Amino acid sequence: MYDYAVVGSGIGGSSVAAYLHAKGKKVILFEKEPYLGGCSSTFGRKGQLYNTAATTLAGYQEGFAVKEIFDAAGFTPDLLPVDPSIVVIQGEKTTPRYKDFEKFLEVLESNYPHAKNRAFWTLVYEINNAFYDYKEHYYESATLLKKLRSLVSFLPLFKRFRPYLFEDAASFIERFYGSLEGEYKAFLEAQVLIVAQAPLKEINFFTAALSLGYTFRDNFYVLGGMGQLFEGLVKKIPDVMRKSEIKSISVHDGYFELHGKFVSTRARRVILNATVYDAAKLFDAPHAKRYYKKQEKQDNRQSSFVLYMKIKSEKTFAHHYQIIEEKPFAYSFSQALFVSFSDQNDTQMCEKGYYSITASIHTNADFWNDPLEYPRKKQELQDILKEIIFMRLGIEENEVVACFSATPKTFMRYIKREQLGGNAMRMKNFLPTLSGNDTPIEGLYQVGDSVYPAQGWPGVMMGVKNLIRLLDA
Ligand SMILES: Cc1cc2nc3c(=O)[nH]c(=O)nc-3n(C[C@H](O)[C@H](O)[C@H](O)COP(=O)(O)OP(=O)(O)OC[C@H]3O[C@@H](n4cnc5c(N)ncnc54)[C@H](O)[C@@H]3O)c2cc1C
Repeated sequence: MYDYAVVGSGIGGSSVAAYLHAKGKKVILFEKEPYLGGCSSTFGRKGQLYNTAATTLAGYQEGFAVKEIFDAAGFTPDLLPVDPSIVVIQGEKTTPRYKDFEKFLEVLESNYPHAKNRAFWTLVYEINNAFYDYKEHYYESATLLKKLRSLVSFLPLFKRFRPYLFEDAASFIERFYGSLEGEYKAFLEAQVLIVAQAPLKEINFFTAALSLGYTFRDNFYVLGGMGQLFEGLVKKIPDVMRKSEIKSISVHDGYFELHGKFVSTRARRVILNATVYDAAKLFDAPHAKRYYKKQEKQDNRQSSFVLYMKIKSEKTFAHHYQIIEEKPFAYSFSQALFVSFSDQNDTQMCEKGYYSITASIHTNADFWNDPLEYPRKKQELQDILKEIIFMRLGIEENEVVACFSATPKTFMRYIKREQLGGNAMRMKNFLPTLSGNDTPIEGLYQVGDSVYPAQGWPGVMMGVKNLIRLLDA
């Protein structure tokens, strides 16, 4: 019997499995796919590697959850610091998001001059520093009493950030600046959306400030592809079961039984890294099914369309660009495209003289439901994105070696989720309504971007830390 069975090898699943193994627990990790990492994996196609979705590693620095968990698991990743962490292109304006505050402010001021810029970005900077300095909060949600008790741990944060919690970020920013140009608003909106996964009017300014400020901290490119992190993390775990989808989990007194096509395993505790929206079908036990059926209501259908390319080019590109256009893209609710290039010296990822590109925009999973329209829409959006990238970054059609794309349906086929980006901390979905890392089912836990606290490496790893605290491991 295992101490823990972890279902899914995304950021949450792989990290908690590696941590628990390092603490001497008997752990088994199941992953449906041959490659590990889910949204943050790296896959191969026709001999070329591509990052599936995530391309930037933030939060690997002293005092932050990513580094803390990697260190505890005994894993040191192979990384390249990236500064600027993104280069934002909006029409004729290019704004590198430098880590250095003054350097960034100088470019910002020349592109979007405003008397309030310094005060605004100083506030963003200060909120980030103050938040990451405070580490005593935790979140428990299995029962009302536990929830209320854990919320008390947020009181110092609540007191400190109260002015930024109850007004939506769009109104706060308007009020702060007095007058705002549409172009600068779109600049802020686009950068908040890629981190917070929600528009400014749906989140508070506290969440917006944390999203805008991630570029002031260390950001990294992962050599060999993001997927290398997972290979490194789980290397010492003897039982990593790839190509092993768990199809059902039965709940017993004091243990669980997990069933796949070729496996059947018992564990005292289960940690789900599948999204909570897709978990009800795994359970027959009525209380577990009921619990996950309720979580399905949180599925906002937000998702991504991703374009992959391999190009041959002598040019030097930045690692990450955000291209902001004047109108939202077709089949999207966003006017911003995020484009990442492999490092030109990363020969594990791509041979010299070539680049592997992953470019993504936000979409809604329901835009892709009609099977008759699907192929046409997919081709149309792929062509649009390709054209924008060519135009803005100076790439020629004859440099393209490979080009293909993924819709929410593709993500469902491979990693069992259509909703991407997880459960954002919107104002109507702030604590205490957010699902936590514990569940009302004894011994059943969950981790990943569909539960507390949010998405991406920094967000999911805060959830891993929270879970470890709840497990008392
Ligand atoms: C387009 C895009 C770009 C992004 N860019 C960034 C970025 O640059 N930096 C960043 O930090 N974050 C980024 N993110 C967010 C980040 O990728 C996700 O928040 C994070 O990877 C989610 O991790 P997770 O722990 O929720 O697991 P997931 O990624 O959801 O992985 C879950 C895993 O579980 C497996 N699984 C599911 N069900 C089963 C089952 N029944 N049996 C076995 N296995 C199962 C799946 O195959 C999958 O591998 C991006 C997301 C998207 C969509």
